[in-house]
Amino acid sequence: MKYSSEFRDPAVAKKLIEQIGEAVAGFDGQMTLMEVCGTHTMAIYQHGIRALLPKSIRLISGPGCPVCVTPVSYVDHAVALARRPGTLITTFGDMVRVPGSSSSLQREKARGADVRIVYSPLDAVALAEKTPEKQIVFLGVGFETTTPTVAGAILEARRRGLSNFFALCANKTIPGPMAALAGDPELKVDGYICPAHVSAIIGAEAYRPLAEQLKVPCVVTGFEPLDMLQGVLMLARQIVAGEARVETQYSRIVKPGGNPKARAILEEVFEPCDTAWRGIGVIPQSGLKIRESYAAFDAERQLPVAVEEPREAKGCMCGEILKGKVTPTECPLFRQACTPENPIGACMVSSEGTCAAEYKYGT
Ligand code: SF4
Ligand code: SF4
Repeated sequence: MKYSSEFRDPAVAKKLIEQIGEAVAGFDGQMTLMEVCGTHTMAIYQHGIRALLPKSIRLISGPGCPVCVTPVSYVDHAVALARRPGTLITTFGDMVRVPGSSSSLQREKARGADVRIVYSPLDAVALAEKTPEKQIVFLGVGFETTTPTVAGAILEARRRGLSNFFALCANKTIPGPMAALAGDPELKVDGYICPAHVSAIIGAEAYRPLAEQLKVPCVVTGFEPLDMLQGVLMLARQIVAGEARVETQYSRIVKPGGNPKARAILEEVFEPCDTAWRGIGVIPQSGLKIRESYAAFDAERQLPVAVEEPREAKGCMCGEILKGKVTPTECPLFRQACTPENPIGACMVSSEGTCAAEYKYGT
């Protein structure tokens, strides 16, 4: 435990909190910092970081959880595929419980659909090889961190000569919504706590347009409490100085150019496309779709199904939560109709969701 205890040392935390206080001492007004990473959201709640900061710093959560930002129309598409005879759906755990317009994968499974949890897209490829009589669909949901593994699975399926492995892709890239929300006058984001894993793939340089063109300071930050406090300090100093640069607090993992190998595999299989984000709407070129040369593995092209008209759950405020405009406790369904056991919206389902974090760690 030496490794993590070093990043949780109370004496160092106290010092950082004092430095943050000094940095904002003469600052007039409030600074709003947004994190766009589900693990940062969980860490903020788990370690009570909000309460440690001066009143002039406000932390808000943005579209950081890949499950939460996936629109209801995608869940409906997956449900329609689950109902298709001969189809086997494979996915990571959380997606199974996300409610669609009139059903969920969990409900379809209870009705007899073949829906299985896998731990990696390669498990789905192995299943396709073992189960040639079925069409195996992997649900491709996630940011730049997980998308290279989907690309790797598609390459592996081609290498093994499989014709029954498909991916239904709603994969997304994170700088697009950050730019979209940076321009929202209602939010007034003064600085971004940039994600850790995503940045390890895309590199800190990916945020340069945000800092240089949109004038929003960006600090790539790790997940431990001392990482987060240091990231806040770096942002506070930039904001007070009226600067907007990209800095990397998490330099032990994140390099300016990211991970070239993962980026290459991603670019081989995927190309940018416009895509819909729950609550935010369509953001141009913020999605990743399977290239024409790998169309044989694209569930959308190869397994057409009729998908119902999407409907959001009545009263659910996930869309506003994902834009950082309301907090979970402002949703009338929070802790009442909507709980982790009976989630009404995606933000309560996912282990990285803001509503789930507030439910577990909030006061
Ligand atoms: S994949 Fe990693 S960086 Fe991205 S939201 Fe999840 S925890 Fe954060
Ligand atoms: S409490 Fe439930 S219904 Fe309300 S915003 Fe969160 S997930 Fe949606």
